[in-house]
Parts: sequence; C-alpha cells; structure tokens
Amino acid sequence: MNSRSTSAIIIGGGIIGCTIAWELTRSGIQCTLLDKGALNQEASTAAAGMLGAQVETHQPGAFYELCRLSQRLYREWSEEIHQISAISPQYITQGILRAALHADDEQELKSRLPWIQDAEWLSTSEMLALEAGLSHNILGGLRFAQDHQIHPVQLAKALQAGLRKLGCEIREWTPVFGLIERQGRIEGVRTAEGSLFADHVIICAGAWGSALTEPLGLELPLFPVKGQCISVRTEAPVLRGTVFTQGCYIVPKLDGSMIIGATQEEAGFNKRCHVNVISDLFARAVKLLPSLDQAELVSTWAGLRPGTRDGLPFMGTSSHAPGLTIAMGHYRNGILLAPATGRLIKQLILGESTEIDLTPFSPDRTKAI
Ligand SMILES: Cc1cc2nc3c(=O)[nH]c(=O)nc-3n(C[C@H](O)[C@H](O)[C@H](O)COP(=O)(O)OP(=O)(O)OC[C@H]3O[C@@H](n4cnc5c(N)ncnc54)[C@H](O)[C@@H]3O)c2cc1C
Repeated sequence: MNSRSTSAIIIGGGIIGCTIAWELTRSGIQCTLLDKGALNQEASTAAAGMLGAQVETHQPGAFYELCRLSQRLYREWSEEIHQISAISPQYITQGILRAALHADDEQELKSRLPWIQDAEWLSTSEMLALEAGLSHNILGGLRFAQDHQIHPVQLAKALQAGLRKLGCEIREWTPVFGLIERQGRIEGVRTAEGSLFADHVIICAGAWGSALTEPLGLELPLFPVKGQCISVRTEAPVLRGTVFTQGCYIVPKLDGSMIIGATQEEAGFNKRCHVNVISDLFARAVKLLPSLDQAELVSTWAGLRPGTRDGLPFMGTSSHAPGLTIAMGHYRNGILLAPATGRLIKQLILGESTEIDLTPFSPDRTKAI
C-alpha cells in the first residue's frame, strides 16, 4: 500500500507515537500526530537510553523475543533517522556490565546463562579490567556486549525534525478529549479545535492512555511508575560503558556527563524529585563506582513510565474498540522497543502478517491480569 489517500491519527507524541508516525509516513500514509503538550516531554526524554534487551530480561519468552527484534533493528533505524533529520541520535555500541554486589544477585544473574544470548559471566578481576573504577566488592557480573545505548533527547529531536521533513502533520498542545465511534468503529477524536477523522486511529498516550479507552469499556491497567534520575560529571572520566547493578545504573554520555537512574515509585502523576530519594540513589551509585563520590551535580529529574500489571506492553487491537490500534505500556523499555513497535504496528495497519505473534501483548488479555 502506498497511497496518501490512507490517513492515520496518532494520539501521543512520545517515542512510541513518533516512531509509529515515522513508519507509517515512510509507508505513504498521511499521519496527524497529536499531543496534549509539546512532543516528547514525558517519559521518553526522561529515559537513560539503555537498549537493554539482555540486561532487562529475566526470563525467556515473548517479551525477550520482542526486545531482541528491536535490538536487531536499532542501528539501521537510528541511522535512517540521522540521515533524514541531519541530527545524530548518538547511538553508541558500548555494551552493559551487570555487576553483582550480593550472593542472591549473583545467583539470579547466573540463572540467566542457559537461555540468554550474547552474554558472558566475568569474574571480579575481569570486570575490573574493563572498568577499573568499579567497586572491588563486586562478585563478578554479566557482560552484555549487544546492549547498546542512545541519547533519548537527541533521538527525540531527530525524530521530530525528520517527521516534519517527511510531511507528517504535527499538532502540539492539542489534547484528545475522547474517541469518536461511528457504526461500531473508532474513526476519529475530539479535540478543543473540533473533531478529526481518519482511516486509522492509533493510541500511544503512555501512562495517560486508559483515560481514553475506559469510556469504551476497555479497561487497560496502565499506571504511572515514577523514575527519579540524576546527571553528574567528574573532572576526569571514571567510566567507559554502562554499568548496572540491583537498584541502580550509570550511563555515560558523549558530553562527559553520566546518568544515574532510576527509582521505581507508584506515586500517581507527580514528577517531583525528593532530596532523600535522590541522595539514596546517589549512595547506591557510589557503592558501585566509588570514584563518583566527588562528582559534580548537573541536574535531577523524574519521568512517568507507562506501567502495566504484567510488565508487558499493550500492542494490537481490541474487540472492545474496533478500529482503534493500541501501543502503550512499554514501561521500562520504550526506548529500546520503539523500532519493533513501529514496525509491528505498521504491519497491522497495512494488513500484513506481523513479524512476531502479538497475542501475548493483546489489549484483550486484561481479563487475565
Ligand atoms: C527515569 C526513566 C528512565 C528510563 N530509562 C529507559 C532506558 O534506559 N531504556 C528504555 O528503553 N526505556 C527507558 N525508560 C522507559 C521509556 O522512557 C518509556 O517506556 C517510553 O518513553 C514510553 O514512551 P511513550 O511514547 O509510550 O510514552 P510518553 O513518552 O510518556 O509519551 C506519551 C505521550 O502521550 C501524550 N498524551 C497523553 N494523553 C494524551 C491525550 N489525551 N491527548 C494527546 N496527547 C496525550 C503525552 O503528553 C506524552 O507526550 C525510562 C523511563 C523513565 C521514566
């Protein structure tokens, strides 16, 4: 299908909405991307940018396969965005070291070895040979060489610039108040500027999504999970790649800063940072990388991950809302999962068979969770 006569409305301009708009616009579909504020001002630019397909997965299965698909797509996808937008998303191929500081953590990490791919167990001295600044108290760890990283703010800027160049219509400060059903199908949206209609309506409203689906009888258990973060800088470099341990990670960026993240708090829709929480997070980072002790504080922030009860995203259609396509609930991994989500939703919209089975991510699974 390659016809500008096909149209789509995309609700929510975070990484997921922007990526879907990208894929559909590239396929010749006329997209209108709506956001209640400016694009990418919520979870997607609060993220650290780890592409942690291995480090974030604790068991084999559909979620791991989804992460791996996205990981395979990432480099080419980000290069295409770079080329079209002329803005670098700062894709870095340095992997992640997942250090164990306690025996139970060591055991959990080693239990992944029979099924996880591209991972190797390193002893304490092997870890220290790679990252000399790590604490000597670590018990070893896993090296995930394929878990690369990107800069979420740069990626957002590049996607936005690229979307404008490709001709996607972007309407910021345009909250969607409701979905419009005609003859049993969702065909449009209500905004303060009036109603809009399209062949396809796709909802990517992150942690806010269920407010729009509930009136249709589609109760998606989506909720905000706050993550507070810190950015710091040291006079001399203390880290080459990302290091991660239970409850804390440190991600070095190209400008010399390091992102320390992140808390996980079910605290409603508030994005306030608290000194006690931030200092506790920093103390955990210093336990992993003692030389951070004298670091300069650059900034602190918080973002709201779109959480789901079973930790899996909602992707696909629902019998409660024919005509509506759903892509929400990417929780801790929306930056990683963006290219796979964009491609799979595009395949659904074009009526193609999807590259991987979307049944485990069905919005209709909510009865079971
Ligand atoms: C601290 C932190 C660290 C993270 N680190 C990583 C990481 O390292 N790697 C990784 O892969 N993921 C990470 N994540 C997770 C990742 O950021 C999210 O999974 C991802 O950003 C979700 O994208 P989204 O587009 O679904 O949501 P959002 O970015 O929240 O976008 C949703 C958009 O919908 C808009 N919207 C909502 N309601 C309406 C409405 N009614 N009308 C119009 N617009 C609406 C909002 O304004 C918003 O712009 C992190 C998240 C946080 C908070």
